[in-house]
Amino acid sequence: MKLNVKNIRYLGPDDWRVLTATEMGSRNHELVPTALISQIASLRSGNGVHKCISNLAKIGLIAKVKNAKYDGYRLTYGGLDYLALHTHTKASTVYSVGNQIGVGKESDIYVCASETGRQLVLKIHRLGRISFRTVKANRDYLRNRSSASWMYMSRLAALKEFEFMKALRMEGFPVPEPIGQNRHTVIMSLVDAFPMRQISNVGDSASLYAELLSLIVRLAQYGLIHGDFNEFNVLVEEKTDTETHEVTLVPTIIDFPQMVSIDHANAEYYFDRDVACIKRFFSRRFGFTSDEPGPFFKDSIKTIVKRLDVEVEASGFSKRMAKELDAYMKEHGVDGDAGELEGGEDEDESGSDHVSDAESRHSEPTSDTPNGSPPAVEDAKPATALTSSM
Ligand code: ADP
Ligand code: MG
Repeated sequence: MKLNVKNIRYLGPDDWRVLTATEMGSRNHELVPTALISQIASLRSGNGVHKCISNLAKIGLIAKVKNAKYDGYRLTYGGLDYLALHTHTKASTVYSVGNQIGVGKESDIYVCASETGRQLVLKIHRLGRISFRTVKANRDYLRNRSSASWMYMSRLAALKEFEFMKALRMEGFPVPEPIGQNRHTVIMSLVDAFPMRQISNVGDSASLYAELLSLIVRLAQYGLIHGDFNEFNVLVEEKTDTETHEVTLVPTIIDFPQMVSIDHANAEYYFDRDVACIKRFFSRRFGFTSDEPGPFFKDSIKTIVKRLDVEVEASGFSKRMAKELDAYMKEHGVDGDAGELEGGEDEDESGSDHVSDAESRHSEPTSDTPNGSPPAVEDAKPATALTSSM
């Protein structure tokens, strides 16, 4: 399911119409009949549609499925990726796509660039990718679920992430700048930092620790619990003061699809788990433990500053959507990185060849420490422009 954008420039307006028609048809058809694609696309030349279909199938944007009753096509993840990128390009949000910098169970992360050359991050949500693989044997499962569900759920995850990022950013939380969202994708600013997981030494661990815990508390005061607050989702940037040469560590929080409201039935459990993740990591990695107990959920929500959970619900990511996504994630065991770390993963600093599952899911930049810079568009293969003009 690797994103290969090299063909995007060669698609003509008719190809896009037919691809869009397949997407529209798949809203209520598991398998979109060729005649329906043709009808929705309503190309001027009658035969043109078949040429476009074969074009799109050849590059894997749609896939032919033979069925007892009729033949038809389904939109592939690649097709959905192209549609989303096409929209971002038309909106002048994205001009080119470069290296993949992260791969998760439920997402792929790429560096991309705007028309002005600003480096951005493209996060493609891929819910159902793993679950479908593991439950493939269960035919009933596939029969009972519409194939549109992975598309819909991935879109919900992207929408949720974008809406929360916007709300958090507005309140001054250290999160990436949200730039755009379309279908199952989010565009945000590239943070010039590595996940805390890759940092072997922080000068002043006590102050970074205190800052992270106070962020968890502050989130609760804004009605929210991150739900996956761990060393993979905290990016840490080293900033050196040009005059004093003092190094400060600046954290940025990412990854919001599993965020929950403080009203959630298991709110306290998620809050405690976020706190425990940070405590465990600081103790294992930096040998730092605090004498202070807590912070505790009940104390944190005594002072409510604002209810971002309620605000986001009103702004587009509705309660119904939240419930649907929540149910899907539960059913499919989507629990972010924390769920896996919770199993008592043994921190291994000695460089043995044991690689935890959670760790192996993230592609590692070349350096172990934050001294290098994160992989950027120029670093490896050149970025691929998405339009033929310019
Ligand atoms: P997942 O849901 O797959 O865990 P994340 O949003 O946590 O997705 O991103 C995975 C990895 O990609 C992160 O651990 C980080 O290394 C990198 N990453 C994601 N967003 C950014 C960003 N805005 N800037 C820099 N790196 C990022
Ligand atoms: Mg993550």
